[in-house]
Amino acid sequence: MTDLTRLTASETAAAIKDRTVSAVEVTQAHLDRIATVDGQVHAFLHVDTEGALAQARKVDAGEFPGPLAGVPLALKDVLTMEGVPTTAGSKILEGWRPPYDATVTARLKAAGVVILGKTNMDEFAMGSSTEHSAYGPTHNPWDLTRIPGGSGGGSSAALASYQAPLAIGTDTGGSIRQPAAVTGTVGVKPTYGGVSRYGLVAFSSSLDQAGPCARTVLDAALLHEVIAGHDPHDSTSIDAPVPPVVEAARSRHIRGLRVGVVKELSGEGYEPGVQARFDEAVEILKDLGATVTEVSCPHFVYALPAYYLIAPSEASSNLARFDSVRYGLRVGDDGVNSLEEVMALTRAQGFGAEVKRRIILGTYALSSGYYDAYYGQAQKVRTLITRDFARAWESVDVLVAPTCPTVAFPLGAKLQDPLAMYRQDVASIPSNLYGGPAASFPAGLSDGLPVGLQVMAPTLRDDLLYRVGSAFEAALPAPVPSLAWENA
Ligand code: GLN
Repeated sequence: MTDLTRLTASETAAAIKDRTVSAVEVTQAHLDRIATVDGQVHAFLHVDTEGALAQARKVDAGEFPGPLAGVPLALKDVLTMEGVPTTAGSKILEGWRPPYDATVTARLKAAGVVILGKTNMDEFAMGSSTEHSAYGPTHNPWDLTRIPGGSGGGSSAALASYQAPLAIGTDTGGSIRQPAAVTGTVGVKPTYGGVSRYGLVAFSSSLDQAGPCARTVLDAALLHEVIAGHDPHDSTSIDAPVPPVVEAARSRHIRGLRVGVVKELSGEGYEPGVQARFDEAVEILKDLGATVTEVSCPHFVYALPAYYLIAPSEASSNLARFDSVRYGLRVGDDGVNSLEEVMALTRAQGFGAEVKRRIILGTYALSSGYYDAYYGQAQKVRTLITRDFARAWESVDVLVAPTCPTVAFPLGAKLQDPLAMYRQDVASIPSNLYGGPAASFPAGLSDGLPVGLQVMAPTLRDDLLYRVGSAFEAALPAPVPSLAWENA
């Protein structure tokens, strides 16, 4: 029999529907796969064996009619799931079992998707390598000595090592797209507000966006449709129809589409191999009938500094809720220490170095006297970047750029240099500041490691990403990792 873990999500769903296999068999195959390889990859922080099998049994009993019923999924540990540990990669949430489902989680369950477990991530989604997880790093299945991207490295590594055909990520500054790029998988950041943030542990609320991750464009679109749509529990949720993403993912044609190459997102700082694959990708888009022009977005060069003021500012406020009283860890509660001391001890032990760095940075940027100079200024830059996008849409339908400047780097290589780590986001952050959708699609290899093609679209035109992705994937199939370490 074919290896069930190698099927795409849509193939899996079809096989379950026509009863070639049962959902329980599919789920068990993935649980077995996790047991075999995750000791080396460390994609999962928690595997929900019982919950997954129970959901699969319901699918086999015919409870869910949807297009992804019975398909296994890996859920980033930043989304709550009732009764299942949720840590956001932090010690401060160790042992916390949320009393409710995030809207994304609830929609997955209602669609009959089988949630295998929670995936590893940089603490509170702050990072580009998953090395800032309090629970140890995840390893890239293409080369176990390298990073799987971040913050959603557990989700991308689970896909690339065939531990799940679907995963959920969240993207505040690139954490869906950069992990997709460096693992040769597909990752889509929907339009801000397109997928509910209810139950998503907040990092930077004006930027955080959950989205689909998969090995194929169609699978990502099917997942997108399940999780997207208006949610009254999230005040920033958009009350508009979900863009026709599945139809677009089946279209495979971009004849006449106007593609803009962002002038500012290339050249210095981009590895030659990354730039070469990107240039080839642009040629492929031309061959497929797209009209390609260069577009200047002059304020994109200020996106990184603006983001590293706005995101830490919002984080410093959001993370105040971890106060030793409401959730998880509590340190020094000996009847002698005051409440303030217990809070300080808990936060000192519960947060890692990167999280503390951002809380300090954000608190400083928001403090009276500095607010206008830092936070206020960054918000103005955000407006200018949004205007760059608006001007671009006058002449093109989508923008393209490399997803990130490098291939997967060795574990440890950037850990001592926060700015080098931050530079991973230089090409992904503009779309977060603007709020429009953006995706990363596999674009071949450089030195044997995956490179991503980034596509950015106007707000609520998520369908355009899938249209480009489906045509590009048909012309250049995603690379397949050898996983030689499995048999070593
Ligand atoms: N790497 C970026 C950061 O560290 C983006 C993280 C994210 O998108 N969650 O903030």
